[in-house]
Amino acid sequence: MQRRSFLQSSAALALLGLGACATTSIPSKARVVVVGGGYGGATAAKYVRLLSDHKIDVVLVEPNDAFVSCPISNLVLGGSRQMAEITTPYTGLSRQHGVTVVKDMARTIDAARKTVTLAGGATIAYDKLVLSPGVDLMMNTVEGLAPAQAAGTVLQAWKAGPETVALRRQLEAMPDGGVYAITIPEQPYRCPPGPYERACQVAWYFKTAKPRSKVLVLDANQDVTSKGALFKKVWAEQYAGILEYRPQHKVTAVDARNGVLKFEVQDDVKAQVLNVLPAMRAGAIAVQTGLNNQANNRWCGVNYQTFESTAAKDVYVLGDSILAAPAMPKSGHMANSHAKVAAAAIVAELSGWAPNPSPLLTNTCYSFVDNRNVVHVASVHEYVAAEKTFKTVAGSGGLSAGPTELEGVYAWNWAQNIWADSLA
Ligand SMILES: Cc1cc2nc3c(=O)[nH]c(=O)nc-3n(C[C@H](O)[C@H](O)[C@H](O)COP(=O)(O)OP(=O)(O)OC[C@H]3O[C@@H](n4cnc5c(N)ncnc54)[C@H](O)[C@@H]3O)c2cc1C
Repeated sequence: MQRRSFLQSSAALALLGLGACATTSIPSKARVVVVGGGYGGATAAKYVRLLSDHKIDVVLVEPNDAFVSCPISNLVLGGSRQMAEITTPYTGLSRQHGVTVVKDMARTIDAARKTVTLAGGATIAYDKLVLSPGVDLMMNTVEGLAPAQAAGTVLQAWKAGPETVALRRQLEAMPDGGVYAITIPEQPYRCPPGPYERACQVAWYFKTAKPRSKVLVLDANQDVTSKGALFKKVWAEQYAGILEYRPQHKVTAVDARNGVLKFEVQDDVKAQVLNVLPAMRAGAIAVQTGLNNQANNRWCGVNYQTFESTAAKDVYVLGDSILAAPAMPKSGHMANSHAKVAAAAIVAELSGWAPNPSPLLTNTCYSFVDNRNVVHVASVHEYVAAEKTFKTVAGSGGLSAGPTELEGVYAWNWAQNIWADSLA
């Protein structure tokens, strides 16, 4: 879509909360710095450019060469998709939208001076700062996990990239008859259905390539945290004898040398491939900046109308790092939705307009239960000004009746559409 037609489109006007196209009075050198080029940050960078008619300079700081998607990465572990299919370059943002992409890490943020200093030494000044650094995995909450992770023996692959490939290699190298164990932390964590989808993918791989092998799902929660009835039906019907689910298993220690997991209450478990997911919190740069002011300092509080931090003015936090509103999952689709609300609020504020008083968010999470069949959960969330939070819209969204191949087509198209929406 051309710039002009986007600005005059009903989508742009709805995001900005405007009834008619308004002229901008953005200061000519306004600059937004975005830290993190994942689902939240890449979308925010693009939409600040689009909604400001390319008048606001946007600098995106991201250490990786390309965007690698966590959604669909479980299929790389299962073997039905390849890394290249979940990787998108950042050139769309720079060439199509004029975003300055800086390959670096943000090391420190000075919210009083409004500057970001990069690991490479440069300091960038901002009018508005967007942080979408994802999650930090709290390795020290499980004894022995940090050294096992550093040695490459016990992996998470909860940030898609080289670890996804390494975990796939561990699964390939495991002899038939071996056990793959995945541990799930207590909620909230990144992507509620993600671990159960992963268990399905590994079970599908074993069923097709190593039929004597087993998948053990060791969940710290009381029960499956998302799409529970759907996953359990699939496990009973497609993976009986291969996949075993055990709730209330909170892992406390890992003995990588002997392949043993220890739990708060239950007996030890032995497995050949250990995939230990520890508790999570806001991305390290948000914590280091002191934005993690909620839920025992794990998550960042935001004003949900704009996503501005409640700890620092002119700093906006998106995606998995925030304290989620009720029923708001930590998902890529949600981070993409947060980003559009924040981008519109930033453009409005720099233009001298009031932010949209009633933003809306959407979410759909698809889960592949094998290489083709998929289930989904969807919801719409509206900002309720009187309560200063988002609530699900009554009657919105829904849940699949059961897995279908048609939903598999929708899921793959969802992925390609959201990658294009964020990055192209
Ligand atoms: C296996 C798996 C499956 C999933 N499936 C789905 C799904 O089907 N649907 C769905 O909607 N969601 C899914 N998710 C969840 C989704 O991936 C996350 O919710 C989403 O990535 C959150 O977006 P984000 O912007 O907060 O973080 P991310 O997308 O992780 O982006 C964070 C970015 O910040 C960068 N960064 C971090 N620190 C710095 C720094 N100091 N300086 C510069 N850059 C920095 C990182 O390099 C990274 O690129 C899945 C997750 C997993 C693990």
